[in-house]
Amino acid sequence: MATKKLPFERPLIKKLNVGIPNKFGLKTEYDPITHIDGVAIKDLINQFGSPFYVISEKTIRETYREAKRAFTTRYPKVQFAWSYKTNYLNAVCNVFHQEGSWAEVVSGFEYDKAIANRVQGQHIIFNGPDKTEADIRKAIVNGSLIHIDHFDELYTIIELSEQMEQKPKVSIRVNMDTGIYPIWSRFGFNYENGEAWEALNRIMLSKKLELMGLHAHIGTYIMVPWAYGHAAAKLADLAVGIQKKFNHHIKYIDTGGGFASKNTLKGAFIPGSDTCPTFDAYAEAITSAIINSGIHPEHMPILILETGRALIDDSGSLIGSVIAIKRLAEGKRAMVVDIGVNLLFTSFWYEHKITPAQPFTHYTEDTVIYGPLCMNIDVIRDNISFPLLNKGDHFVISRIGAYNMTQWMQFITLRPNIVMIDMDGKPHIIRKGETNDSVTSQEVVPDYLKKITV
Ligand SMILES: *Cc1c(COP(=O)(O)O)cnc(C)c1O
Repeated sequence: MATKKLPFERPLIKKLNVGIPNKFGLKTEYDPITHIDGVAIKDLINQFGSPFYVISEKTIRETYREAKRAFTTRYPKVQFAWSYKTNYLNAVCNVFHQEGSWAEVVSGFEYDKAIANRVQGQHIIFNGPDKTEADIRKAIVNGSLIHIDHFDELYTIIELSEQMEQKPKVSIRVNMDTGIYPIWSRFGFNYENGEAWEALNRIMLSKKLELMGLHAHIGTYIMVPWAYGHAAAKLADLAVGIQKKFNHHIKYIDTGGGFASKNTLKGAFIPGSDTCPTFDAYAEAITSAIINSGIHPEHMPILILETGRALIDDSGSLIGSVIAIKRLAEGKRAMVVDIGVNLLFTSFWYEHKITPAQPFTHYTEDTVIYGPLCMNIDVIRDNISFPLLNKGDHFVISRIGAYNMTQWMQFITLRPNIVMIDMDGKPHIIRKGETNDSVTSQEVVPDYLKKITV
């Protein structure tokens, strides 16, 4: 492959900015973000308005491949399943499906979305505590992998299995002590108190269900890879027990999601980009626990990963504009912007990275960034050492690809366009901005309320 010769650039001498680390973090922004994947943000704003979400297809694919490589180089059989609730825009899901990811869903709505995206039934993992009887029937007919959350669900499946031709394919969700607290004990069956074993015994003794695997989703934003090592070891231990007791070999071990992304948690002293474990570190902990377990080498299960946040966060950005600059009564500088917490749900947990989209002042000032909502809690950053932007200037909020496009709220204003930049640098709208009509289309006004006099 011929490599393109890069144009010569004159060396540039730049003043080195030194800062003293403080509780509010170092000043890290020295350069504006003017382009995303080679596309000028100015052009995007002209085309799609402000604010809007933008997703880099290139970043999704690169991140996915990096994660996949970390696991496939350490373990023979690896399968990723895309966590729909983390970002269920069809275009995003399909990028993951093109890369080979199965679908991991937690509701009938998400299940139907995966089917509509043409994921094969047997490649859909159905998690979550709320599966209706109709959902379960559908999953059984399609041969999907039903991850049982509680005994009531197990009994429903046993009951349905008696009426149906297909043998339900099931796994249990296991919760356990992995050394991190609080323990997420509300999902699935507990390992330590024997509940997981009871569920397995009931499945095996019913003879009507096909036990496929074991699943644990220990939490989210887990900063310590060794916790996954404990989880994988406990699941492997169950697999060995099932082998011994029932001479049954499970097909997979699923260690769920929860890997941290590079975002900085509120109150953290060091930026998340410096503390976030690598995919290699997670992969090392999980695969070594399974490889070193008592599972017979000829029956090594497939390792399934449902990681969400860590695969998509970096690919998403929110582009917005400054509405006004204020000086608060107590003297602090405030910036009002057109992105509120309704579009940036994760601002309740993260100190999001915000970068001007045009050249800016060297001088910075402690600033509070407010959203446009008429609500006191609409704060994007409480305190950020930020350059002095003006009304009409633009900025980029980085690493917002996870959960914001599913947990967002239609509140006071409409939700904006979502744009994906493809591998060739071409932008595509993947979700149209809402209109008054699209938002009110579900409303019904009774006839007697149609006549008003104001
Ligand atoms: C939410 C969820 C995931 C993805 O979690 P992340 O923290 O985004 O990686 C995976 N599996 C299950 C069962 C989930 O509920």
